[in-house]
Amino acid sequence: MENEKSTAELLKEKLCVTKKHGGLRLSTDEINVCNDFCEDYKVFLNDAKTEREAVVKSITLAEKCGFVEYKDGMSLKAGDKIYYNNRGKSVILAVIGTEPIEKGVHLAAAHIDSPRLDLKQNPLYEDSEIALFKTHYYGGIKKYQWTTIPLALHGVVVKKDGTKVSVNIGEDENDPVFFVTDLLPHLAADQMKRTPGDIIKGEELNIIVGSMPFKDDKISEKVKLNIMVLLNEKYGMIEEDFLSAELEAVPAFKAKDVGIDRSMVGSYGHDDRVCAYTALKAILDCPNVKKTAVVILTDKEETGSDGNTGLRSAYLKHFIYSLADSFGVSGRRVIANTECLSADVNAAYDPTFPDVMEKRNCAFINYGVCVTKFTGARGKSGTSDASAEFVGRVRAMLDSNNVIWQTGELGKVDAGGGGTVAAYLANMDMDVIDVGVPVIAMHAPYEVVSKIDVYMTYKAFYVFFDE
Ligand code: MN
Ligand code: MN
Repeated sequence: MENEKSTAELLKEKLCVTKKHGGLRLSTDEINVCNDFCEDYKVFLNDAKTEREAVVKSITLAEKCGFVEYKDGMSLKAGDKIYYNNRGKSVILAVIGTEPIEKGVHLAAAHIDSPRLDLKQNPLYEDSEIALFKTHYYGGIKKYQWTTIPLALHGVVVKKDGTKVSVNIGEDENDPVFFVTDLLPHLAADQMKRTPGDIIKGEELNIIVGSMPFKDDKISEKVKLNIMVLLNEKYGMIEEDFLSAELEAVPAFKAKDVGIDRSMVGSYGHDDRVCAYTALKAILDCPNVKKTAVVILTDKEETGSDGNTGLRSAYLKHFIYSLADSFGVSGRRVIANTECLSADVNAAYDPTFPDVMEKRNCAFINYGVCVTKFTGARGKSGTSDASAEFVGRVRAMLDSNNVIWQTGELGKVDAGGGGTVAAYLANMDMDVIDVGVPVIAMHAPYEVVSKIDVYMTYKAFYVFFDE
């Protein structure tokens, strides 16, 4: 018979790894499910560009699903849905399972901070009748990418009397936007001789905020004064209030479909809102869980996870300990029995820059959620390196639930490297592996992911909680 497979074909199928594009593995209906899922994801991306906004948005969605704020010492029972807001910049959500919590929790950990330009503490100045803000970049960026794009300003200003004002300028269609300049090519001969990392220097990331003087002949710096008058009218602030403000300039772009086939989403901050949103949706959608499910959306990953809202702080441990206290069991034992999916993105193969990737081991868009056994630099420095046992366990879970997945690594050996929060969680004494969406142009002001991969990442978290 013509259709009959040869012995070699059968053996290859049985013995060898076969990789296939997700679009060829899914039906049209299934692809539509992935596409539909990303419509709400795009809304989340546009509404939650900073860690503070992501916390607010996540809590709003959680409360709609019956989550209530957790207070230390609260009595808890199976089915309870709680959240803990850590200083407005990170949030933990949990659904109490039917199994004893001593058997550990199923944890997914994503981060909600993204690379950006923070305003310095004395940001506003006037030079040559143009008003500008001084910035200090946050996270790993290629500085030249942040020039000549529309920027929006997000954050809070805390006044001396303790009142807090939220700032959001540049997102509404009718809002003005902000701008970091670059030299015109005609006059860039010297600039182009600089080393690539210095094409734009850190102190050149100055944001233009105005050019109209206050009408008065008696004072200097009239453009700056005019900006302060406008800020005072809108936010009631004075210049000194910048000292106790956290203002972040982020790209003003909206999330959009990318490509004629609309198979991808372009946005600022996929890293790591794409894993934050999918983990959040998974815990909100999971009807009831056996193992207690926990999602942590943390801050400060992009600067190394230090600080009281980053994952090197004790706040996650304290939260799990207080859950354990509620059930009168040892927090130490809960953590030791915990399994964690460190939910972060990985680099996707980019055909324009193939040299940094090793094609047999890197992740490709549309090949599903990426499972990364280890990260790190050079000789795996800084990685937690998931055990073969835990990889085997995750592999079986994904396969048995028809989750399309692949493995990945952060580029060729010695091409660079990086890390995630996985190591900090593993150091707490839990099993951890990195799981997330492959991203093209990671850390750029506009990053790209595939819709199939976004949905498969959601599905991976869902089946993990639903076990
Ligand atoms: Mn990340
Ligand atoms: Mn990152």
